Amino acid sequence: MAIQVIKDKCKGCKLCLKACPFDAIDMDGKVAVINEKCTACNQCIAACPFDAIEKTGDDAAVDLSAYKDVWVFAEQRNGKLMNVALELIGEGRRLAKEISEDTKVCALLVGDGIDHLEQECYEYGAERVVMIQDPLLKNYTTDGYTKVIVDAVEEYKPELVIYGATHIGRDLAPRVAARLNTGLTADCTRLDIKVSSYIEYAKNNTTLDTSTLDPNDPSTGIKQTRPAFGGNLMATIICPKTRPQMSTVRPGVMQKRDRVAGATGERVDYKPQISESDIRIQIKDIVKSAKELVSLTDADIICSGGRGLGDPSGFELIKEFADKVGGVVGSSRAAVDAGWIDHSHQVGQTGTTVKPKIYFACGISGAIQHLAGMQTSDIIVAINKDPDAPIFEVADFGIVGDLYKVIPEIIAEWDNAEE
Ligand code: FAD
Repeated sequence: MAIQVIKDKCKGCKLCLKACPFDAIDMDGKVAVINEKCTACNQCIAACPFDAIEKTGDDAAVDLSAYKDVWVFAEQRNGKLMNVALELIGEGRRLAKEISEDTKVCALLVGDGIDHLEQECYEYGAERVVMIQDPLLKNYTTDGYTKVIVDAVEEYKPELVIYGATHIGRDLAPRVAARLNTGLTADCTRLDIKVSSYIEYAKNNTTLDTSTLDPNDPSTGIKQTRPAFGGNLMATIICPKTRPQMSTVRPGVMQKRDRVAGATGERVDYKPQISESDIRIQIKDIVKSAKELVSLTDADIICSGGRGLGDPSGFELIKEFADKVGGVVGSSRAAVDAGWIDHSHQVGQTGTTVKPKIYFACGISGAIQHLAGMQTSDIIVAINKDPDAPIFEVADFGIVGDLYKVIPEIIAEWDNAEE
């Protein structure tokens, strides 16, 4: 527990009970007691006029050596693993082996009736599966998943836990990090092992500034890199004092390992301690969006349109193009902001990160925030009437011209080739 009441100072005034938004304080006689619903939000500390509540553990030294292994939150929905989970299992395996030969990558599966997913995790690189199942975990809830994951992490002590930066991952990871009183780096695009500064120096002694060497730093850790300041610089963040280290990673950034049919691993069943009272929300109904669903992260070919389309009807041409080449429609933020297409199509820093085999950028200038979401595509084809457009700097093939002339010609050529 990161918040505690100093019994001698507590006067039993109950102001903290009124301030707590989570119903996380009870009275034991005349003394307030923090219960397990506490999220360490600090509201009670601010409300107490007697300085009788304090945060603990922040500066307490954590025994880093007690933590081992890399965990991947293997997000599943309706009994199907998300692509990003498989990508992260591959990345987790790479990191685990860089840490040490006996560090294992573990897939953390949470849900109900999901035994069938275990094998897929091994086949994509997991060496162990930690399975947490309960009828109360059938559908994702922040409270339910947070509780069981925090309990499991406290029991098994992984040194790194990574999540996909999906809607669920972005909701869950901060809550788990707060409960565990550890750090979280959101939206990472790269993870590396940080070795002790001396080892790093020995490896790269031409580049490292020796004045930064800390002879008392024997630690390893993860260097978590993410775009900052609107994508204008990349920040590398470490979590040197607390464990586990935690990151969310954008879908489509890491590589899946090749699937190895029949691969096996070790299964650990963790029996969750969870009851209905732990979950403050009730799911009455799940209504799927009526919007056309786009799966940009899984697409092999993406045809994206930008402000260069001129008006929303330009997306009819992009759709025709995408249908012809077997792709899906993407867009720049300018087109989304103009109301020409739904945000679910947006590629880029504040949209989806994609890595298709072919990315067509049509009437897109190539702003850094757009590039952040597509520049690792295998092949980039840019169509733009401005020969100096920055998109041509990352394009493998560039066509300078009016997209309303170029795209119909490509479609016609495609038809000819099919005949
Ligand atoms: P423009 O920059 O206006 O480019 C239009 C291009 O079309 C021009 O190069 C022009 O030469 C060309 N063109 C015009 N007519 C034709 C024609 N007939 N044929 C061919 N070419 C033509 N942007 C994103 O895309 N995704 C993001 O996730 C994203 N996140 C952002 C986050 C932040 C914090 C900020 C500040 C910005 C973000 N942006 C994002 C916006 C980004 O900076 C750019 O404004 C945006 O990408 C520009 O979109 P565009 O290339 O379609 O438009």
